[in-house]
Amino acid sequence: ESLTSRLSGFHKLSMVERHEKLSQMLGLDEMDLAQLQGISALQPGLANKMIENAVGTFSLPLGLGLNLQINGRDYLVPMAVEEPSVVAAVSFASKIVREAGGFSAEADDPIMIGQVQLTRYGDPTEATKRIVAAKEALLALANSFHPSMVKRGGGCKDIEVRVLPAPEGPRGEPLLVVHLIIDTQEAMGANLINTMAEGVAPLLEQLTGGKVFLRILSNLADRRLARATCRIPVEMLADFDMPGESIAEGIYQASRFALADPYRAATHNKGIMNGIDSAAIAAGQDWRAIEAGAHAFACRDGQYRPLSTWHVEDGHLIGRIELPMALGMVGGPIKIHPGVQVAMKILRVESARELSMVFAAVGLAQNFAAVRALGSVGIQKGHMAMHARCVAVTAGARGDWVEKIAELLVTAGHVKVEKAREIIDSLSE
Ligand code: NDP
Repeated sequence: ESLTSRLSGFHKLSMVERHEKLSQMLGLDEMDLAQLQGISALQPGLANKMIENAVGTFSLPLGLGLNLQINGRDYLVPMAVEEPSVVAAVSFASKIVREAGGFSAEADDPIMIGQVQLTRYGDPTEATKRIVAAKEALLALANSFHPSMVKRGGGCKDIEVRVLPAPEGPRGEPLLVVHLIIDTQEAMGANLINTMAEGVAPLLEQLTGGKVFLRILSNLADRRLARATCRIPVEMLADFDMPGESIAEGIYQASRFALADPYRAATHNKGIMNGIDSAAIAAGQDWRAIEAGAHAFACRDGQYRPLSTWHVEDGHLIGRIELPMALGMVGGPIKIHPGVQVAMKILRVESARELSMVFAAVGLAQNFAAVRALGSVGIQKGHMAMHARCVAVTAGARGDWVEKIAELLVTAGHVKVEKAREIIDSLSE
């Protein structure tokens, strides 16, 4: 059934009221709420099964990205992040985009790549020929390690051979890399890909007389891209006493800058990943894999470039993002971690593909909020108000005092811990 992500005044509610609202909307039960309140967080026993040398668990704030509308459907996005402004930025940007008709998004099939590195194979052309000729046998062997994936409609679909004129080995041979093209369905896929890559290695050695070294997935998941776009009438951008044209111009300039300069592109993309990583952590995704894929993809033409671009066309600001998105609805901690269970209930996505579209839109929203401020009044104005709260807490403020001290710091135009201590001292006297 439909749900709105446009929750006016949500940020003004107490946490208890927010929980009530979520319960009403999503039918969260006592256990879910206990999870959100940290009462039944990840149990030490479970943590001890998840990683080695476990000594406890670690918490992060969980916020809700609001207002997202993607392909006509509303999404509330749980975001686990320690940095202030990230959740606000996504929600704010999504509100503007929503008024302009929302995000459009799409994503590729879940096609991943497993790599097998072959050496001592003799003549590269001959080795390639033999591997290609044995394609059906290789596919069958790869799939024999995971028949259930084939039953689901996934599994190893193709074999590609790459000869790379890269660093010469001791025998002067070029690199020969075999790619297994694998449909991982609803899984991110690392484990099943690695199993298949290891599984076919002996046959590749047999076919070529060579020796296999590495057998592992590639995190440059460039066959599994997600894309999102938005189109905002320029006049809707007017703010800070500036006309929409000026804001749009600033956003376009930010895009130009990032396209031309890796020093800027790195920061541009960091902002995008602020949103995506936060959502990924909450949803139990391997965010290092997403990061690795994003940055490698950003560099695909040899220069590190922005993952999103902005331009003005027919009186509209148009934003686009495209990046690899290797996500799962199963696997890893997804069905194990109780916090992820609640996040998934809130997200209400039905497939890894749908999740990847949500993440792409979150990245674009985050980026929109950043470049909108950067290209006009700068980000410190907005950031400082939130940063001031952290400074107030650091200086010792608690409860109602946090907001009070933060406001005084901003008014004083001097958001520093020592200033906060001064204010606290003067108020406690
Ligand atoms: P898992 O192996 O944990 O889970 C995937 C399994 O779920 C599948 O093999 C399949 O097993 C089962 N499954 C059930 N339903 C489905 C479905 N509809 N579609 C697909 N599979 C289904 O996870 P992944 O293989 O996805 O690997 C992800 C994990 O690997 C992450 O935790 C990641 O951190 C880690 N990892 C990442 C690396 C990297 O990125 N470089 C390297 C190594 C590990 P069955 O067919 O038996 O039911």
